Amino acid sequence: MQENKVYLDNSATTIVNAEVIKEMEPYFSGMYGNASSIHSFGRQAKEALNKSREKIASLLNANIDEIFFTGSGTESDNIAIFGIVNTQDTKGHVITTKIEHHAVLYSCQHLEKNGYSVTYLDVDKDGNISLNDLKQAIRDDTILVSVMHANNEVGAIQPIEEIGTYLQTINANRKNKVYFHTDAVQTAGKACLDVKTLKVDLLTMSGHKFYAPKGIGVLYVKKGTKIKPITFGGSQENALRPGTENIPYVVGIAKAFDIANANLEENDKHVLFLREQLKEGIIKKIPEIIINGSGNRALSNILNVSFKYIEGEALLVMLDMYGIAASTGSACAIGFGGSHVLQAMCVDPVSAQGAIRFSFGHYNTKDDVDYVLEQLPKIVEKLRLMSPVYKKF
Ligand SMILES: *Cc1c(COP(=O)(O)O)cnc(C)c1O
Repeated sequence: MQENKVYLDNSATTIVNAEVIKEMEPYFSGMYGNASSIHSFGRQAKEALNKSREKIASLLNANIDEIFFTGSGTESDNIAIFGIVNTQDTKGHVITTKIEHHAVLYSCQHLEKNGYSVTYLDVDKDGNISLNDLKQAIRDDTILVSVMHANNEVGAIQPIEEIGTYLQTINANRKNKVYFHTDAVQTAGKACLDVKTLKVDLLTMSGHKFYAPKGIGVLYVKKGTKIKPITFGGSQENALRPGTENIPYVVGIAKAFDIANANLEENDKHVLFLREQLKEGIIKKIPEIIINGSGNRALSNILNVSFKYIEGEALLVMLDMYGIAASTGSACAIGFGGSHVLQAMCVDPVSAQGAIRFSFGHYNTKDDVDYVLEQLPKIVEKLRLMSPVYKKF
């Protein structure tokens, strides 16, 4: 029924940039060698692998041997968490937050099932942890702190540099070092990431959140970090992530990261403008809404709004009928009115139930926003008229 197609789910995944596809293309056909082979095909592949690693290392202010290619952001998170705790003889303590992506959250829950102890830090109403809470949580047997850079549902940015600085200070006087991992999947390609400024030991990125294909990730591991592999096989990626390297995708993620970093400010300004247009329009046109995570320390491209008295899922289905793609925030929002992130932010269950995440990307336009602002108020009103909760109100 619809002619318009408006994609506002860029935090779930992005389109692959045409320039990225062009860069990848030769490695599927002509230059298809295995990077471990000694013949010319292999050497071509190896050279592409090295160049891509160099590019990413330099953009992160890291060394070449600190960059590991993986199959996803999820895999990078898993290698970081299990790879660090597996180096210990005893089952120590891990600190993370209540608002992590499931790749970190469920990994930590798995650790707990296996006898480790995990502290899940609270967040305030804007989705930010408190550095003081983190300081209080550190124990003698703490091995790892894993705190996401920016949250994928509400965009809240955590104080990574401050945490890194604090951990560096206390590590100077500790027998066993506290390692620091950050899941930077939502900030990679959106903000300048410098691992030395952030003072992290491990950092996760995922290609498909910044216009590279799905199924390619990066893990930065600081030199000197004691880490063990979680899968076993060949010696690829210094045996931390064995398996034949996916050269086209490696080339793709490096190219996409390069392009994104060359246009950070411009892109940020663009998505911020669109998000503010949508936010102001929604506030003006639709009553009984709440903006979730409206603090200052947040990503420019995410707008999370609760439409009271209706179900987020119902709203998504209706929006989809008009060609508008948005999200409830997390891929599998079940249980408590949906999201564990909104629950941690103490959003009341009724409002959390009606929460929608709109996430902008480079390719969105003002026309996209205008179209949403034309359809959304009508859809919300229609759903509310069918809602028994709304009638009571
Ligand atoms: C998408 C995402 C992941 C998972 O990355 P995949 O490459 O899809 O496995 C991890 N953390 C955050 C914050 C994300 O947004």
